[in-house]
Amino acid sequence: MNNRIWLSLAHMSGREQDFIKEAFDTNWVVPLGPNVDAFEKSLSEYLNEERHVVALSAGTAALHLGLILFGVKPGDEIICQSFTFAASANPIVYLGAKPVFVDSEKDTWNMDPVLLNEAIKDRLRKTGKLPKVIIPVHLYGMPAKIDQIMEIANYYNIPVLEDAAEALGAVFDGQKCGTFGELAALSFNGNKMITTSGGGALVCRTEEEAKRTKFYATQARDAAPHYQHTHIGYNYRMSNICAGIGRGQMFVLDEHITRRREIHGLYTKLLKNVPGISVLQNFNDHFNSNFWLTCILVDSEIAGKTREDIRLKLDAENIETRPLWKPMHLQPVFADAPFYGNGTSEYLFNIGLCLPSSPTLTDEDIIRVVECIKLS
Ligand SMILES: *Cc1c(COP(=O)(O)O)cnc(C)c1O
Repeated sequence: MNNRIWLSLAHMSGREQDFIKEAFDTNWVVPLGPNVDAFEKSLSEYLNEERHVVALSAGTAALHLGLILFGVKPGDEIICQSFTFAASANPIVYLGAKPVFVDSEKDTWNMDPVLLNEAIKDRLRKTGKLPKVIIPVHLYGMPAKIDQIMEIANYYNIPVLEDAAEALGAVFDGQKCGTFGELAALSFNGNKMITTSGGGALVCRTEEEAKRTKFYATQARDAAPHYQHTHIGYNYRMSNICAGIGRGQMFVLDEHITRRREIHGLYTKLLKNVPGISVLQNFNDHFNSNFWLTCILVDSEIAGKTREDIRLKLDAENIETRPLWKPMHLQPVFADAPFYGNGTSEYLFNIGLCLPSSPTLTDEDIIRVVECIKLS
């Protein structure tokens, strides 16, 4: 049997252990410390030196604190992209706020600006209030139509919390994803562009926002010699050990992006003449995905097989693939949430598949995946 080909695996630079060792040697085996400061600095240098990055225990924690910074209260409505991972939407509910889901457009698979505009107007009509925050997602590393989304958000004066968990290194119009919104969330979970074994970050525009994020992430202690609290806090800060892994990962971030883009290019070339199968591409020159995962759509009438036929065949051949994210408006847990849709995300979910895209995969691995797709 061939070795199993996984969907997305972490890959170490080798430098991670040096930074972890340093933490042990200097007894900084605690939350915070020099690795955390250095990791935050290198992330902000990478994204945009004017941004203030706060390292946290998870991308989900970053989204949660982002909503808190925007002052979200119970009963507030938050607009969220429906086509995403549940972690984009769950923090809305942590705060007793209400998600309002917006469907995707077909060019990038992300939040449809036309539907976003309709949703805002309809919520205003129905509730007399504007939604409090907009959460667009750059899914699979593909930039959303963020220029149009920002224009609408600015028109209504609604702040944007970008979910860039999958999009580190992706670029729209020469600008990195995660630097468009007032705030943005990154993830360093095990299968994302880089990993800290588990972690995330909140990208802030102002130092004041970064300070407040750190305050809430470390139990909201007031300035006093004793433990004094006037706000509810969280234990969301990244540890100095995890940040050491992150520092090591920054050495291979560009390599990872290059390799994931190469893998996407190879899939595109090899699947070009396979009937009924299409690979998601950059919509035009403004978009430059990091191609965290290469995704295909299977038109079963032309292909003569369904997405599930392919997924099961590949699994039997020891190759891991996964259906696209199931939209939030179709999730039982969000059955009651308002939804503004046009059928796009449901269509994508029904016929879409994520292909193995780890930076460690060889060209031969990709050829093997494509051969199995053809034979399924
Ligand atoms: C991974 C992910 C998150 C959550 O990040 P964690 O670090 O796993 O908490 C949020 N949104 C999207 C789109 C993700 O893919």
